Amino acid sequence: MESIISAKNIIKNYGGKNPVNVLKNVGLTVKEGDFICIMGPSGSGKSTFLNVISTVDRPSKGIIEINGKDIFSMSDKQIGKFRYENMGFIFQEFNLIDSLTIRENVGVPLVLAGQKREEINKKTEAIINELNISEIIDKFPEECSGGQRQRAAAARALVTNPKLIIADEPTGSLDSKNSHELLKIIKERNEKYGTAVLMVTHDSMIASYAKKLIFLRDGKIEETLERNNLTQKEFFYKIVDITSRESQSFFDIA
Ligand code: ADP
Repeated sequence: MESIISAKNIIKNYGGKNPVNVLKNVGLTVKEGDFICIMGPSGSGKSTFLNVISTVDRPSKGIIEINGKDIFSMSDKQIGKFRYENMGFIFQEFNLIDSLTIRENVGVPLVLAGQKREEINKKTEAIINELNISEIIDKFPEECSGGQRQRAAAARALVTNPKLIIADEPTGSLDSKNSHELLKIIKERNEKYGTAVLMVTHDSMIASYAKKLIFLRDGKIEETLERNNLTQKEFFYKIVDITSRESQSFFDIA
């Protein structure tokens, strides 16, 4: 399978008076068809890792290759273009623009990519139908429920038909029913089109949709778990095992 992004020997430090070494030599390759979930305690570097891999933030050291090309040899404009054309982002807080309707919000990535109005209308319409949000397209975000807003945010992430979906706690503001609905949409994309998914979550149930789990601790990859031919339920129990070990270590220290 084609590698979309590859990160090797990544080190990320934050400067200031008390410099912190947040990522300590981590690496990951994301290929077409992958569905990878990153878990780990709060402060272990999950969001930083996601931001570095998705080229939103630059590492202090290490190599990031997109389509086989080192990003350090590319301009910010070239990297930005790659992001618009290949990635869709879903965040916990939806990040919809309040002054735009849902239809306009969904079309934003296409506008940013400089596509023609006709093309924008056609693609926006298609994804709105696919995600069943036609009843809210002319509403503003504040007129929609949390679940509707998150579906709109998913539509915006998918409207460009990205090769890679980047999701940071995508269900953090949703109830259980809406969380599973969102994950089903993501899973379908992954299975139908081979869209790769890289997701951070603290929720083992949500993580069980993935095919591979990476457990970060203190800026390092502590454990990698492949789902292989386990059912989602069996994978869920394996994940719970890892996360409960995490809680156990807390009690051992306390
Ligand atoms: P997680 O997503 O696992 O909760 P983060 O990646 O958000 O962890 O953060 C990891 C560590 O990096 C934390 O200790 C956090 O305080 C620190 N950190 C994150 N962003 C910055 C920043 N911009 N400046 C300084 N420290 C940061």
